[in-house]
Amino acid sequence: MWPGHPRPYADELFSSWLARLASSNGLPVRHFLTAIGQGPSWERDPDVTASTPLLRTLAEGTGQSIEALRTLTLAPLAGPQETPGVSGDVSWILQMDPGYRRRRRHGLQACLRCLKEATWFKKQWRCAYVVACSLHDQILVDRCHACQKPIRVWQLGGEKQGGILSISRRCFTCKVDLTDTAPVSIQERSLWNYSCEIEGMVTSGRAIAESPWCRRLGESIRAIRRDDVLRKVSARVPFERCSLAARLTIIRTLLQTKK
Ligand SMILES: [Zn+2]
Ligand SMILES: [Zn+2]
Repeated sequence: MWPGHPRPYADELFSSWLARLASSNGLPVRHFLTAIGQGPSWERDPDVTASTPLLRTLAEGTGQSIEALRTLTLAPLAGPQETPGVSGDVSWILQMDPGYRRRRRHGLQACLRCLKEATWFKKQWRCAYVVACSLHDQILVDRCHACQKPIRVWQLGGEKQGGILSISRRCFTCKVDLTDTAPVSIQERSLWNYSCEIEGMVTSGRAIAESPWCRRLGESIRAIRRDDVLRKVSARVPFERCSLAARLTIIRTLLQTKK
């Protein structure tokens, strides 16, 4: 077993656990993966495409089961019918730039209050239809408030927090504390109800596409995006590549038209 082998939290995102694992063994994720002979795993979105050999190696080094580690990935949510695109793109899941160089897609979101309590990232925050945290009644963030760069969990590095080696909350680019900004409350009851429903779907672990509620949601969102105003907001890119601000506008419009 490796010296550092943190247990995953329930609902933790695979790449978040992997970043904590690498950090607790004193290495950045890239060097850690190279050291265990799994360097190329980072070429595609690891949360969606984590291979069985990678999961087996990690299971052996940490005492976790392969099945337990697979539940941290987003593959069960995407469902068996979904074949990931070149970089690991699938429906429902925010698109991410894998690797270290490109930093354009804002594919990871977070609740500032959740992050302040403990720095680890939840699986549900990579779902394109999740825009808020019902637990804290807060709108999520999908970028650094100071430099606007995406949040990339494997670049945050390690930091001692209360005696425990955890993921740093400092922006990889400008080094500000990502949580050092005022959170924004949800305000409308309809958005809070919606958030509870979609969070429940994501944390159930079932394939999202198999939920009739989510299918209807996807159809409604596609329908209202034909609206001229919303088309400008999201510039016709796939919903899974829209910014949080654009997705929030679309979902708020949908909830208002449903009243
Ligand atoms: Zn929260
Ligand atoms: Zn920054």
